[in-house]
Formats: sequence, C-alpha cells, structure tokens
Amino acid sequence: MAAALGIDLGTTNSVVCVSDGSGVRVLPDGDGNLLIPSVVSFHPAGDVLVGHPARERRLLDARNTVYSVKRLIGRPFRSPEVTRAQERFPFELREGPTQGVLVAARGETYTLPEISAFVLREVRRIAEEHLGQGVARAVITVPANFNELQRSATKAAGRVAGLDVLRILNEPTAAALAYGYGKGSRERVAVFDLGGGTFDITILELAGTFLGGDDIDLLVAEKMADAFLEHHRFDPRQDPQAYERLRAASEWAKCQLSVEEEVQLRIEELAYGDGGASLDLTFGFKRSALERLARPLVGRAFDVCEDAMRVAGIRPTQLDNVILVGGSTRMPLVREMVAEYFGREPLSTIDPDLVVAHGAALQASALAPDRPSVAPKQLAKVALKKVSLADLKAKNARRQELREEAAAALPAQPAFQPP
Ligand code: ADP
Ligand code: MG
Repeated sequence: MAAALGIDLGTTNSVVCVSDGSGVRVLPDGDGNLLIPSVVSFHPAGDVLVGHPARERRLLDARNTVYSVKRLIGRPFRSPEVTRAQERFPFELREGPTQGVLVAARGETYTLPEISAFVLREVRRIAEEHLGQGVARAVITVPANFNELQRSATKAAGRVAGLDVLRILNEPTAAALAYGYGKGSRERVAVFDLGGGTFDITILELAGTFLGGDDIDLLVAEKMADAFLEHHRFDPRQDPQAYERLRAASEWAKCQLSVEEEVQLRIEELAYGDGGASLDLTFGFKRSALERLARPLVGRAFDVCEDAMRVAGIRPTQLDNVILVGGSTRMPLVREMVAEYFGREPLSTIDPDLVVAHGAALQASALAPDRPSVAPKQLAKVALKKVSLADLKAKNARRQELREEAAAALPAQPAFQPP
C-alpha cells in the first residue's frame, strides 16, 4: 500500500508531503509547484478549477472563485467572522439549513467542507500522479486553536475527497515534529506562524488571531489605490474586479521585496477614463517603504506573543528555540523582529511554508508505516499545551487548566531531508 500523506490544508496554500524510505518529500504538481493555492473556481464551461489555475481566475472572475474558506469552516453563519468575511469576499455566502455557511456560485451551493474537499481531491490527485499509485490515507493539519466543529468539518472534507483521515494534527505540533522535537525533550519551543490569513504563536500555550500576509497586501493595495485616484481621479476601490488586480499586484510586490530592495510595477487598463481611454497604474515601491507600512501590523503579532508569554509565565529569551512557519515569515522585516523579540535567530532551515506538511508526513508514516518489515519504530510524545485566544482574554477571570494536547506518536529519529 502507498504511504500515507501529510497534508497542510492552508488558508492560502496547501502542501502535500510523504515520508517513506527515502525521507520526507514534498510532492510537486505537474508544473513543479510545491504550494497549491487553496482556491476553487467554478468556470462558465462547468469545470471546477483548483490550485494555480483557480488562483488566476480570481483576477478575471472574482465572483465565482472561492478562497480562504478555512477562515470560516465549522463556524455558524451568524458568527462575526462570517459577517466580516461577507463584506470582504467577492463571492457569495448564504445561510445553510443547520446555520452553516454555503458558498453560492453559478447557480449551485456548496458547503465549506465540500469546497475544501475540492482542494484535498486535487492534492490527492497530485500525490497519486507523483507516486504512480493510489493513496487513500492522510494526516491533515489544522490550527491548534480549531474547535471540535472546525476539526470535524476538516475531517469531513477529507472523507468527501475519498481520504481515510488517520489523524487531525495541530500545525505547530507538525512544525515541531519536522524539526525533530517530540523525542521527549524538555526544551521549550515557540512556533511563530505568520501565513496568509492568520498569525499563530505557540509556546506550550498558544493563541491565534486574524493577521497575515493578506493584511499587508491590503495596506499596499490601499496605497496603490490612493496613488491611482490622485493621478486619474478614479477610485479603483469602486470596482471589485479592479481592486482584486491591485491586491494581486500588491502581493507580488511584497514577495519581490523579500529578496529585492526595490520594485517597479505597471498594471495596464486598470480602469477606463473619458472616452474609454485606458488608465494604467505605474508604481515604484521600496522595501523600506513596505517595512514602514507593515511594521505596525507585524508588531501586533508580538502583542499576541506577549499575552501568550504571560500566560506561560516565561520571558521570550527563556525559550530554547523558535520555529518559523508561514510564507509571510520570509519577509526580512518579520525575521528581524522575531530575532529581536526572542533574542535568538529562529529556526528556518525547512521552508516556512512547507514545514507543517513535512511534520504531518512524519506523523502519517508513524501511524501507517509503508514498510512494516523494518524494526518497530520507537514512539515518543509531543505535548503542546494550549489555550485559546478567548481564554487569554478571560485570563483575569481565571487561570484555567491547560489542556494537554493529544500525544502524537512519531519515529525516534525522523528521517528528514531539507528541501
Ligand atoms: P497559509 O498557511 O495561510 O495557507 P502560507 O504559509 O503559504 O499560507 O503563507 C501565505 C502568505 O505568505 C501569503 O500572504 C504570501 O503573500 C506570503 N508570502 C509568500 N512568499 C513570500 C515572500 N517571499 N515574502 C513575503 N511574503 C510571502
Ligand atoms: Mg499555514
């Protein structure tokens, strides 16, 4: 039987890994991409596009292109998160029969587990194509602060995609496993996860908040919109499709500025002026300007860190290690601020957007070894305790008993190959 998969089902991107005799491998799609956008687009021809082709559809057909469902999965329609998302998302959300959320596109409605199942099915297809055999079992990761409803909705998505979900594993636990923690060591590690839509800090205890690369993109897009308005007397915020293009350009510029000091970009035909003349946007942007813009936002992550540290009763400098997770930790500014706050260089030898799937694959192979003839694997435990953000807020009321996370089993010496 084929090895079980480790799947990081992310808000922005998903990653699939396998851990077998040759170590941990990220399985790329046919074009060599390691990150599969968690985006599903319903094409007028009736096709359902997933991943990169779907992500491109955001720029052309925002109304029928669904993303970031992980923010909403397992939440009631009337929750504040869903209400806020309705204002922000260009696609339509409706109330389902049991107060759940439905996505409406091209005359059909879909539950959120159904949307996630499209992503998981694609991930599974990529893995099968790569491995040249069928795969039916997987470990899927979720944020540590997901509640039971969110976990079971994720599990349901796996089942709809035809997967036998061996375990729902916490993302920070997976990242810790990827770096070989969990051999019963008493080290205290922080997992600093700044992805596309959320920021999560885990230090034995954890808290999560909506803060991520998306928010930085919006700040940049606002700046571009202002520049465009000043220049052409047209506000691109009036047109959701134009704004979507600005947002995509902002994200591109932000990512470029992680490796370059300066970028120039030009968006043609962002709008049309008098007599149908095409209005273009030209925008030059320096890393220093991005950092000025992003610093207060990234700073909010450290407020959350402060709260988590207080609950844990330790100082940032007392930690033995800090693990970077999430694409946004590629920003030099984030790395600097993390190093300064924790007083040490964070661990980042495993790509921060792949590390969770790596750990999930190690867990999957421990739960379902694909070569049972080798010596039985020694089992160890990772115990990350957790408290939710709501608990943190209520910390004055009561210092609540920390819940032990389900102990995870893994090989004593995880075979691991950095990408
Ligand atoms: P998630 O866990 O939310 O699915 P990821 O860990 O893949 O997401 O992170 C996605 C975020 O990382 C996006 O906001 C993306 O713009 C950002 N990102 C990816 N690469 C870079 C980079 N080189 N510099 C800055 N941000 C980046
Ligand atoms: Mg993630």
